[in-house]
Amino acid sequence: MTPTSLTPPPDYFQYWNPEIETMSRPELEALQLEKLKIAVTWALRTPFYRERLPKAGINSAEDIKTLADLKRIPFTAKHDLREAFPYGLLSVPKEEVIRLHASSGTTGTPTTIYFNREDIKKWTGYVARCIYGTGCNKADVFQNMITYGLFTGGLGFHAGGEEVGMLVIPSGAGNTTRQFRLMQDFGTTVVHATPSFLLHVESIMRSEGVSRDSICLKRAFAGAEPYSEDTRRRIEDLLKIDVYNSYGLSEMNGPGVAFECQAKNGLHLWEDGYIGEIINPDTLEPVKDGETGELVLTCLCREATPILRYRTRDLSSFYTEPCVCGRTHRRLRRITGRTDDMLIINGVNIFPSQIEEVIMAMGEVGNNYLIVVEKEGVLDRLTVKVEVGPDIFMDDSRPLNALRDKIRKTIQASITINPRVELHESGALPISEGKAKRVQDSRPKDV
Ligand code: ADP
Ligand code: ZN
Repeated sequence: MTPTSLTPPPDYFQYWNPEIETMSRPELEALQLEKLKIAVTWALRTPFYRERLPKAGINSAEDIKTLADLKRIPFTAKHDLREAFPYGLLSVPKEEVIRLHASSGTTGTPTTIYFNREDIKKWTGYVARCIYGTGCNKADVFQNMITYGLFTGGLGFHAGGEEVGMLVIPSGAGNTTRQFRLMQDFGTTVVHATPSFLLHVESIMRSEGVSRDSICLKRAFAGAEPYSEDTRRRIEDLLKIDVYNSYGLSEMNGPGVAFECQAKNGLHLWEDGYIGEIINPDTLEPVKDGETGELVLTCLCREATPILRYRTRDLSSFYTEPCVCGRTHRRLRRITGRTDDMLIINGVNIFPSQIEEVIMAMGEVGNNYLIVVEKEGVLDRLTVKVEVGPDIFMDDSRPLNALRDKIRKTIQASITINPRVELHESGALPISEGKAKRVQDSRPKDV
C-alpha cells in the first residue's frame, strides 16, 4: 500500500449499492459476461461495428461464450470514432437519443457520444455511487466548479450529486471570487474541479484574504487531468480537505468510470459497468498483472453509442491486492498521463507528470507551472516556468537563485535533462478554466 499523509480511512465505509460493490469476483465476472453479450448486440446495430465485428468472426452475441472471447473483438481507437462521426456509432434511431456530449478535444477533433434515457439513468447511477463512496450524503452542499456544456464533467456530476440528494450548486468553472461567495453563502461542503483549478482557488483565496474559517469545505473531487500524489497532498494541506481522484472519459460516458473510495489508495473501476484491460501499447498484448500500460475499456452500460475495447491512451496499472474498503472492483493506479503526452527531448522520453512530481513536492514552490519546449539550433530546449510560494520574495535574489538551482538539479536527477528554470510570482502564469495546459511545445511538428 502506498503510504500517504492523508486522513486514515474510516473503519466504516458506506456503499451506494452494497450488493454490486462487494459482489464476489465469480459473480462479477458472470455479470460482465451477460452484459458484454448485450453490449455486442447493441454494437452490431451500429454501422461501424456491423462492418467490423463480422470480420473478426462475431456475428451475434452467441459468438461471445466466455469473457475470454472479449479478446476476439478488435480494438476501437480515437480515430475510429472520428471517422464514424457523426452517426456511425449510433445504434438507435436518432429520435431515441435525448442528449449528446463531446470530448474536450485535448488531442484533436472532439468525438461525440449519444445517450438514450436509459443510458443517462445508468451513468447517473455510477456517478452517484462514486460520490456516496467518499462519505457524502444528502446533507452535503455540492458546488460543481467545472465547465458545463458539451464537457461531461458538468452535467454528469450535477446529475450524480442530485441522485445522492445533495444540494447541487451549478457554479461552473472560473470566476474564483464568485465561487468563494457561493461557498460562504450556501455553506458548500464539497466541490468538484480540476486539480489545477483547486490550486488556483487556494492561491486566490490567499491573495484576496478569504479566511479558511469562512467556508465549511470538507471534500473535493479532482479529475479530468493527470496530477501527482504530491499535488493532491498540497491541495489537501492548503485547503484542509480530503481530495478524491475522479477518472472518466466521454467515450465511456464521462465521470463515474473509476473513483477513489475513502481509503484514497487507487481508483475502483466499476467493473459491472466497464471491462478494463491493460495492454502494452506497442505489442497490443496484455501486460503482466500489476504492470503499467495503456488502459483499454469496454462500456457495458450504454445502448445508444456502444464502444468496445476502446484504447484510452491513458497509462495506468491495476493494484493486485484487494482494498481495505471491502469493494471487490479492482483499483487503478493514478493515471500518470497519456501515451501521446510523452515528450521526446533530445532523444530522451519524458512525461510531464515526472516534472510535476518533482515541483509539487517542494514547499517553496507555488501552485502553478508551465513546461516549455523549443528548438534552439539543432537541439531541443526545455524550460520549466514555476510560480514561487508565498514565502519567497521576488526582490530577494539569494533565495531565488537557491530555489532555481534546487529545482533544476532535482529535475535533472529525475529525468536526466538539464532544464532552464524560470521563477515567476504567484498568479503570473496562465490558468485555464478547463483542463490545464501544462506543456507548450513550439518545435516544428516534423521533428
Ligand atoms: P479529451 O480526450 O478531449 O481530453 P475528455 O474530456 O473525455 O476528452 O477527457 C478524458 C481524458 O481526461 C481521459 O482520457 C484522461 O486522459 C484525462 N483524465 C480524466 N480524468 C483523469 C484523472 N483523474 N487523472 C488523469 N487523467 C484524467
Ligand atoms: Zn476501496
